[in-house]
Amino acid sequence: MHRLFSVAAAPPPPTQTHPAPYSQPMNEYDYIIVGAGSAGCVLANRLSASGKDRVLLLEAGGSDRSPLIQVPLGYGLTFSDPKYNWMYTTEPDAALGGRTSFWPRGKVLGGSSSLNAMVYMRGQHADYDEWRDAGNPGWGWSDVLPYFKKSEDHVWGASEHHGAGGELTVSDFADQVHPLCERFLQAGEALGYGRTADFNGARKEGFGLWQMTIRKGVRASTSNAFLRPAMGRSNLTVLTHALVQRVLLQGRGAVGVECVVDGVKQQFKSRKEVILCGGAINSPQLLQLSGVGDAALLAAKGVPLAHHLPAVGQGLQDHLCVSYFFKSKVPTLNNTLGPWYGKVWAGIRYALDRKGPLGMSVNQAGAFVRSRPGLAQPNLHLYFNPISYTANTAPVGKRFQLQNPDPFAAFLISFNTCRPTSRGSVQVQSANAQDKPLITTNFLTTEHDRQDIVEGARMVRSIAATAPLADVVQSEHLPGADVQSEAAIFADFAKRGGSVYHASCTCAMGPDAATSVVDARLRVHGMRRLRVIDASVFPAVTSGNTNAPVIMVAEKGADMVLADNA
Ligand SMILES: Cc1cc2nc3c(=O)[nH]c(=O)nc-3n(C[C@H](O)[C@H](O)[C@H](O)COP(=O)(O)OP(=O)(O)OC[C@H]3O[C@@H](n4cnc5c(N)ncnc54)[C@H](O)[C@@H]3O)c2cc1C
Repeated sequence: MHRLFSVAAAPPPPTQTHPAPYSQPMNEYDYIIVGAGSAGCVLANRLSASGKDRVLLLEAGGSDRSPLIQVPLGYGLTFSDPKYNWMYTTEPDAALGGRTSFWPRGKVLGGSSSLNAMVYMRGQHADYDEWRDAGNPGWGWSDVLPYFKKSEDHVWGASEHHGAGGELTVSDFADQVHPLCERFLQAGEALGYGRTADFNGARKEGFGLWQMTIRKGVRASTSNAFLRPAMGRSNLTVLTHALVQRVLLQGRGAVGVECVVDGVKQQFKSRKEVILCGGAINSPQLLQLSGVGDAALLAAKGVPLAHHLPAVGQGLQDHLCVSYFFKSKVPTLNNTLGPWYGKVWAGIRYALDRKGPLGMSVNQAGAFVRSRPGLAQPNLHLYFNPISYTANTAPVGKRFQLQNPDPFAAFLISFNTCRPTSRGSVQVQSANAQDKPLITTNFLTTEHDRQDIVEGARMVRSIAATAPLADVVQSEHLPGADVQSEAAIFADFAKRGGSVYHASCTCAMGPDAATSVVDARLRVHGMRRLRVIDASVFPAVTSGNTNAPVIMVAEKGADMVLADNA
């Protein structure tokens, strides 16, 4: 029998500084990795595996030992907890009626993989073929599939589509999801969209259940999966509460980083490379703070220019979604997780065998569909949650209500455009690394993205109106039956739409230094010994969730780093 929070006691200390049997001074390493997130933990493992190189991993956040991180459903709380979260706010956006958006990002070992919703989704084949065709050889689907499989330890075992024996556990929750999910899937089938047993297999379209990065009821963050197994290596040093402020340059070559560790400024030297894994907001910020970015922006913000690279921070993409809430005639997770006695029951249930609602995501099922004829691939990503929390647009700084479901039986269906074409930006506001960067989203600024919103809204309603899901719908709670016209749908979207936290593309990979930041080997254009490896290098956001694609990018990037330094 497992104790409820025994998971928190298992991991080794988060901060390790090993006495290393090397002749270099202690502040000199072969590789310096900035950020222990989805990508950084993979790189720390792979680059230290041979034992030949000294690797330093620097993380601005702290330990991930908390049960809020290790117990899967804890993300309802870490979602708005500044102890683990950068808590970004975007600029006001016209598509959101002038509202700002709250953008949680992980600031802790594991980064955003320590507070995400754990859905494992690779995306469509065409996503990667388009990356390759945009001038990035080696990034097509057939090139990247081996890297997805390399990481994977899928509970279904090895197959043409899946890997087994890798570090990252991918689990199937078909025997545990809420019974309402089956009604959702059957409604999709009744509408003719078909069902898929494996969104990451041969058929990536249709209705189905999500696979999740959860291992035996514990979050399979990249910290748990990749970093912990490597922590005992004497050539790997991990420092937490270490905010990197800039990359140290000699001419156009990276030679180290300047970092504040527990309030003390320090410099660390790199013999081979500095690798930025700070994520889609922080990596472009750090490049700009280091003088690598658009010359006019840096001049305006008082940052000395090292290298004019105008695309740094440009091209920001994200998935923008809205949820439709339906009151239910049958109990949902609101009935389970709302009352105090339900929470206690869920805790006991989890303590017994790490199962039940606390042991998985509330985002349990969904679909990838084409909403109109003539499309080559799905344009809409739908999510089905057998729970509802209508107060999730509370102002930043206040606790969001994800931990408190609505006091009535209800579920939600959300949707977002798979491949938005709108692009925003990330820009430093000053030369001070402590100042949050300016995040401009420019949501729904293309006709393509706007069309999908209207079709998505209509599709969600048609699913809810189709048996057997329709049989349990009592009424549409939000936005409500009066929201029908295109204008009303957009007005509602402006009021309630928001991010699903897939920020990417701000240091995009591409062949042209005028329009991209890294080349196809993830080296910063015009610089030496400096790479970016994280969600920011996506040339375009993938069709689905972004954690698995980031881990793939890190696997492939690690091979490139090792090959180029062999
Ligand atoms: C609430 C939420 C839910 C999500 N749900 C899902 C989901 O269900 N499925 C899915 O596939 N994806 C999901 N995502 C998205 C996914 O988790 C991210 O795309 C992915 O984790 C990004 O990986 P990354 O390596 O680019 O950045 P991160 O994982 O964010 O890592 C960046 C790391 O760098 C550190 N860092 C940044 N700057 C510095 C600095 N200057 N010095 C030192 N350290 C620094 C950060 O603290 C962080 O630890 C979700 C994201 C969020 C926020």
